[in-house]
Amino acid sequence: MLLADQRRLLCEYGRRAAETGLVVGTAGNLSVREGDLVAVTPSGVPLDRLEPEACPVVDVAGHLVEGDLQPSSETPMHLAVYASGDAGAVVHTHSTFGTVVATTMTGLPPIHYTVLLLGGPVRVAEYATYGTPELAANVRAALEGRTAALLANHGGVTVGPDLPGAFEATRLLEWLCEVYVRARAVGEPRVLTEEQLAAVAHRAFHPPVFPVRGDSPGFPTRED
Ligand code: 13P
Ligand code: ZN
Repeated sequence: MLLADQRRLLCEYGRRAAETGLVVGTAGNLSVREGDLVAVTPSGVPLDRLEPEACPVVDVAGHLVEGDLQPSSETPMHLAVYASGDAGAVVHTHSTFGTVVATTMTGLPPIHYTVLLLGGPVRVAEYATYGTPELAANVRAALEGRTAALLANHGGVTVGPDLPGAFEATRLLEWLCEVYVRARAVGEPRVLTEEQLAAVAHRAFHPPVFPVRGDSPGFPTRED
């Protein structure tokens, strides 16, 4: 079986996506790339009922290489993502809070600094019918410089170096959207400025060095 490990991973993370409520029914799809081949979830099969052999393998041009079932209808979107960078995996869900934001906003306002883990403020890709090359192009544009995007009136998509990474990005995207939606219910969320986000990025690359006790010229220790 081609890409046996990758197809097993699709089943494992498909189950996780369903169990954690990121998808319901037959919503959502996942893929993993290995060289010129992509293992993708089949169309119309609930993600918690996948078997490795049921996950088709296509080449990066979209030709079916192995498998009896139809590849996900969003395969053009997955392939467009792979064509535009070095992603190793793509996760697409209809998660609740992501879809709420995707249905009402043109972007997720950066209210929490961890959005930088997704490359910066998350854009909402323009609406197009599911499964179309038009949607694939809109998503590709919205992902420029990012590892996550929302799909207008549809859901969200994340990319990663591998499936665990892309799945973690989906969990973070959903958490950020939930925080935003819940914050809106309490009041007007403060949006981080570009300067505030730049300061976080700077700190991430220049972490403070904590001096060893005894050598400390400045930081007070517990005994001081
Ligand atoms: P598939 O079952 O064809 O993957 O479609 C699910 C989906 O989310 C379409 O956008
Ligand atoms: Zn979808």
